[in-house]
Amino acid sequence: MSEEQQGFDTRQIHAGAQPDPATGARQVPIYQTTAYQFRDSAHAAALFGLQEVGFIYSRLTNPTIAALQDRIAQLEGGAGAVCCSSGHAAQIMALFPLMMPGCNIVASTRLYGGTLTQFTQTFKRFGWSAKLVDFDDTDAVKAAIDDNTRAIFCETIANPGGYITDLDAIAAIANDAGIPLIVDNTTATPYLCNPIDHGATLVVHSLTKYMTGNGTVTGGVVVDSGKFDWSASDKFPSLSQPEPAYHGLNFHETFGPAAFTFHGIAIGLRDLGMTMNPQGAHYTLMGIETLSLRMQKHVANAQAVAEWAAKDDRISEVTYPGLTASPYHDRISRIVPKGAGALFTIRLKGGYDACVASVSNMKLFSHVANLGDARSLVIHPASTTHSQLTEDEQIKSGAAPDVLRLSIGIEDAKDIIADLDQALI
Ligand SMILES: *Cc1c(COP(=O)(O)O)cnc(C)c1O
Repeated sequence: MSEEQQGFDTRQIHAGAQPDPATGARQVPIYQTTAYQFRDSAHAAALFGLQEVGFIYSRLTNPTIAALQDRIAQLEGGAGAVCCSSGHAAQIMALFPLMMPGCNIVASTRLYGGTLTQFTQTFKRFGWSAKLVDFDDTDAVKAAIDDNTRAIFCETIANPGGYITDLDAIAAIANDAGIPLIVDNTTATPYLCNPIDHGATLVVHSLTKYMTGNGTVTGGVVVDSGKFDWSASDKFPSLSQPEPAYHGLNFHETFGPAAFTFHGIAIGLRDLGMTMNPQGAHYTLMGIETLSLRMQKHVANAQAVAEWAAKDDRISEVTYPGLTASPYHDRISRIVPKGAGALFTIRLKGGYDACVASVSNMKLFSHVANLGDARSLVIHPASTTHSQLTEDEQIKSGAAPDVLRLSIGIEDAKDIIADLDQALI
């Protein structure tokens, strides 16, 4: 049986890993080395010429990180994956081979706050731009695409919570336009959704969140489906034409479905240097071994807490899609059939002041700017992550002054509910 045919729980433990060839060590060793000794000069030349695949220098490749890349590629159903230093680095690494000055992407308005800042502000410094569109308005998505659009970007389950993207509908638009769909699958994880099955070309993750699962690592990954035909148009010359940054190599012609992955390592990591470290990759490999078990508990706890919150008098709205009242409830069975994640917002009738006081009262919940930890986490976006926006902008991005964002952990649901019950005002 090939590894691709094994079940998710088997792959999350075994994919990409084997007993260490040098020592027999059963767990993937942390290869804490910068460089790798060449067998001889011919070997060194073959590695640099990409005629032979192997390890040269850890900015490019490292055996611990290679095991993690292989594991994530197999969990997402991709042809290859490149790990990098953070989720935000993964977004740049995914776009870098596609973009040139003057190019744009069409992106959902419902994105992680830091992603919105990267797309609307920092992109300008590269000569790139992002057109933000409501992804429920498919006509608006189509209308936003122009000759300089090189990708469509969205999140499976969008931060701060409660929104599920209709990936199939968006993938159909990308396909018609001949451009790749990039999906940030951080909040769903490959256990709840495989965007490639819904037509995504590239999948990015912040490994910082559920994949590692305990708030110990900053990391990211870009997974390539291997299915996009980069040579079908002249839009992606860095992949489909001789690339001057690699002495005229044509990546698509040379590597076929592995073109994007090779480009990510040979040019992306080589020149941008957003490399993951082997210690971080080790923690993430350990985390992924229990991903399915943790996500089942995250989802079950989120459902229990959301149902409790929906009945509580102090709360005016709960945005969890697992509740039948959610406008996105009917997308669960198609996009995230094992559950709608564990991230959602509640609105307090007492407004801004009640939110700030309630957060201070919480004992089990940690007040942090993270999500996807084994611990339950809370933040009041209007006084923290979204405090620089106007009240109108806060409301539009789902971070109104009366909103608290909850990232439900894997403690006992009754203890999570008890903490909210004693804390809320
Ligand atoms: C955290 C997060 C990011 C950014 O990841 P970092 O690892 O913090 O750089 C991007 N997208 C989503 C959905 C996130 O939750």
